[in-house]
Amino acid sequence: MLDCVAMDVKALADLHEELRVCRLCLVKGFAIVPGAVFRGKAGARVMVVGQAPGVTEVEAKRPFNAGSGRRLFQWLEAAGWQEEQFRAEQYMTAVTKCYPGRSKNGKGDRVPSRAEQRLCRPFLDRELAIIRPKLLILVGRLAIQLVYPARLRLDEIIGTAVYFPPASLANPANLTWEAGECLTRFEPERSPNGRWVVPLPHPSGASLWPNKPQNQVLITHAIDLLRQIREAWGL
Ligand code: SF4
Repeated sequence: MLDCVAMDVKALADLHEELRVCRLCLVKGFAIVPGAVFRGKAGARVMVVGQAPGVTEVEAKRPFNAGSGRRLFQWLEAAGWQEEQFRAEQYMTAVTKCYPGRSKNGKGDRVPSRAEQRLCRPFLDRELAIIRPKLLILVGRLAIQLVYPARLRLDEIIGTAVYFPPASLANPANLTWEAGECLTRFEPERSPNGRWVVPLPHPSGASLWPNKPQNQVLITHAIDLLRQIREAWGL
């Protein structure tokens, strides 16, 4: 009989195989470039969720491969993770996992539609159920809205974290805003059987938000939250 670890490894391998051949968005008429991009193994304790891969991510088959990866890993390294070790040990995925193509106005990549997000959501829920991350890092508005309400501005979100107590994780994919508790500081007394969710802004050069001095203060606070969670929970 398979033990829990072997079951997770098998379930993740099956999921990755399904993702590699998935053409659901194409079949439904969305102009994605097929070839889902994700990286990571069962046993990861941190999961990063981005918006969708860019063209260089598709070519390299590596999440956050180019410019956005450089900035993201500057932030993660400031929180205490080394890039290569993080990529080897942790899990990286996206709200939608295939390249959505360029936006019509030519400025950056197209934001996946709600319909595409719905089509891909079961894959993300299965990743969450298998990995059961202790820390979930949501990168960019689309990923942040997996947990945070759309009405909140980015400057109200970055620098906060949401703690999900163990009881709320009976369904590991349960990420509702109501199930968690939004905090502005790390609370070490919280049960390590829960889950922290920390949002970061989109790190692509197309976004000017992180460059504004008042927003850099918020990002520094978010990095500090990540560092404290990493140290306290041994991530
Ligand atoms: S974005 Fe997700 S649902 Fe759509 S084709 Fe790619 S893997 Fe399938």
